[in-house]
Amino acid sequence: MTQRVYVDGPIHDEALGMLRSATEVVPEAVEMGAALPDVHAVLLRTASLDAKAIERARYLRVIARHGVGVDNVAVDAAARRGIPVLITPQANLRSVAEHVFALALAVSRNLIRADRTVRDGRFASRDRLLGRELFGTTLGVIGLGRIGGEVAGMATRGFGMRVLGYDPWLPTHRIRERGAEPAETLPDLLRACDLVTVHVPLSRETRGLLGRRELASMRPGSLLVQTSRGGVVDEDALVDALRSGHLAGAGIDVYKTEPPLQDHPFFSMEQVVLTPHTAALTEQAMRRMAVDAVQGILDVLGGADPYDPPDGARWQAFDPGPVAELGE
Ligand code: NAD
Repeated sequence: MTQRVYVDGPIHDEALGMLRSATEVVPEAVEMGAALPDVHAVLLRTASLDAKAIERARYLRVIARHGVGVDNVAVDAAARRGIPVLITPQANLRSVAEHVFALALAVSRNLIRADRTVRDGRFASRDRLLGRELFGTTLGVIGLGRIGGEVAGMATRGFGMRVLGYDPWLPTHRIRERGAEPAETLPDLLRACDLVTVHVPLSRETRGLLGRRELASMRPGSLLVQTSRGGVVDEDALVDALRSGHLAGAGIDVYKTEPPLQDHPFFSMEQVVLTPHTAALTEQAMRRMAVDAVQGILDVLGGADPYDPPDGARWQAFDPGPVAELGE
């Protein structure tokens, strides 16, 4: 029987070609709600698949995320029906890690203001754009998983930074292997760092992980980079910490509401650099995410055990582990 696959949003041509040669891809014009009752697989970019949608998809055998976050999938509802949720863990980690440094440098070197200064013919006012080096400063990495681990390695090898890491789910030797010194508690890390970057999934436990109290315990004049998920950092508290000057700047890729509302206080803050959830959007990662997700769908529809992927597979089934990600 031909397997029908719904693809949410545009994906890389190579991956679409792989899918089309082996399955029937639902035409783009068909909305997800209308397609779900007849599909065997869903490749999900940004749309949400809630519990009701999953219940209606009676033939659904696999959901594949174009990336790693599963906060747009009702994972509990999928698990109840025995439907695996695949992620592509290796596809975008390098891109996100590089974006962390793009934001860190943009903030620490006043890049956006500097660009505007040149375009506006105010070259001579460059003395007002005094930057800071990353070299020799201390980076705090919260969550030392795939992306956090990559960031820690790049910081030590590439920028000569000292790295502190906080991840209560990892043994300290694993944190050290990633190039970071383990901080015993989150406040210990926050107090000791010049730049803090967050790499935890959004879950019931991590929502508001960096709230008012935590931001207040960061070093005066320190910087924050946020590329994890909106909701992990309390945005109102961050706005206040930046307004008061307690934090000197922030680089932000993810927001509580995406896109952020038009009158968001971030928009009037020169010390904040904003990107529209583009940390993983590189040519290389887009191709890898799509190809890896499609391969996962084809493997599982072809009979592979989602919980024991074939050798060399670049996909895996999401495992909630000790921290269950939010489903809806
Ligand atoms: P991962 O699962 O490999 O690592 C997450 C780490 O966070 C784990 O080691 C876990 O133990 C740790 N953790 C969980 N709760 C914690 C807590 N309370 N305090 C400290 N550490 C905690 O995930 P990853 O691949 O590194 O991705 C991390 C997150 O980055 C994703 O969940 C996703 O939300 C986000 N992400 C964002 C983009 C983007 O475009 N901005 C792209 C990819 C991923």
